[in-house]
Amino acid sequence: MGEPRTPQEAIDRARNADVIGVAESLGAVFKANPEAGVPCPGCGGTDRFAVSRAKNVFSCRASGEGGDAIRLVRHVTGCGFAEAIEILTGVKPAPVRSPAEVANARREVNEYREKARRVAHGIWRSARRPGDLLRDYFALRGLEANPACIPTLREIAAHPYWTWSKERRCFVKLGEAPAMVAAITDAAGRFIGVHQTWLDLARANGKAVFFDPETGEQLDAKKVRGSQRGGRIVLRGPRTGASDDQPQFDRLAVGEGLETVFGWDHVKAPEWTALWVAINLDNMSGRATESVPHPTMVRADALGRKRMVKVSGPCPDMADTECLIVPPGRFSKVTFLGDGDSDGFSTTAAMHRARARAPADSHPEIDWAPPGMDWGDVANMAKQEAAE
Ligand SMILES: [Zn+2]
Repeated sequence: MGEPRTPQEAIDRARNADVIGVAESLGAVFKANPEAGVPCPGCGGTDRFAVSRAKNVFSCRASGEGGDAIRLVRHVTGCGFAEAIEILTGVKPAPVRSPAEVANARREVNEYREKARRVAHGIWRSARRPGDLLRDYFALRGLEANPACIPTLREIAAHPYWTWSKERRCFVKLGEAPAMVAAITDAAGRFIGVHQTWLDLARANGKAVFFDPETGEQLDAKKVRGSQRGGRIVLRGPRTGASDDQPQFDRLAVGEGLETVFGWDHVKAPEWTALWVAINLDNMSGRATESVPHPTMVRADALGRKRMVKVSGPCPDMADTECLIVPPGRFSKVTFLGDGDSDGFSTTAAMHRARARAPADSHPEIDWAPPGMDWGDVANMAKQEAAE
C-alpha cells in the first residue's frame, strides 16, 4: 500500500471553498464591505486583512500571505496542507491502493455483507406475523395503523440483545426482551437487512432499556442487522420503482422512523400515498458535496483551542448511490417528513439534500413537524385533543 494521500477531489473542493465564509468561521469580522481591511484572524493588526470576492482570495498585508481557502486556513491555524484540507472538507488522507488491493477489499466487503444479510434473514424467519405484542405497542404509542396488515413487520416474544464488549473484545448478551422486527429491502425489493426494536410495554415509550455494563451508558433500543444503506422499510405501497408494482399508489412519503411515518399518515391522511421508512437521516439524504461550518457548535482541539464543527452541507453528492433513491418516473409527488426535534441546522441541510436528490418529476417537498416535535408527537397530541 502506498503512502497516505489526500484525494484530489477533496483538494479541489477545498480550493473552491468560499474564502469569506471560511475567514468568518476562523474569526474574521468583516465590515459591510468585506473587501475593506479588517484585523487578520491569524496575526491581528487593525486593517491588514482583506478578501477579493471576485477572485475568492485573501491577502494579509503584514505577513505577505494570501491566496485561497487552503492558504488561509494554514495562515490562521499554522497547520499543514493535509490538515487544512481536512479542516475544510472533513476528508482525511487515505492510503493509495492498487487495483488488485481495491478488488480484494471489495470482495471482502461483499462477503461480509452477504454473511450479515444471511444472519439478518435468519432473525426475520424466526419472527412471527404481528399479533398482540405489536398491536399493544402501536396502541401504547398512539399509532393508528394495524400492524397485522403490514407484511414487512413481524414480532418476536423473546429476542436476545447483544452488545460489543471492549474489555472482552467479543459480543456479550445483555438480556432478552420482546421485539418488533421490520424487513429492510433494496431498490429491487430484495431483503437486505432487519430493523429490530426491543420493547418493554411497561414503559411510557414502549421501548426496552439496556445499559452498557462497562460504561453505564444507555444503549439504543433499535439496531439493524445486515445492511440499511440504500434500503427502506415499506409500510405501504410498492417495494420497487417498477410501473406495474402497485401502480395505484402514485405518491410517496419518506420519513426517518416508523413512528414518524405512521404519525404523519394519521395526521395528514393522504390519498394513494406509499409509505417508506428511511431508517436514518443519512440514508434519506445521502452524502453532501461539501461540509459547512455549524453556526453555533464548537469543539475543543487537542490544545484546548476552540475549533468550528463542520457538518454535511445542503448540496447532495449525486455520485453517492448508496442511499435511498426515489425512482424517477414513478411518483407524481414525494414528501420528505422533517422532524422538528433534532439539531435544526444539520437536519435542515440533510432534508434539503434529500429533496434536491429526488427526481424533478416527483415534485419533491418537505413537510416539517412543528419545532420540538416529530410527526409521531403531532399524531399523539391530535389524538389527546380529540379525546378531551
Ligand atoms: Zn495575517
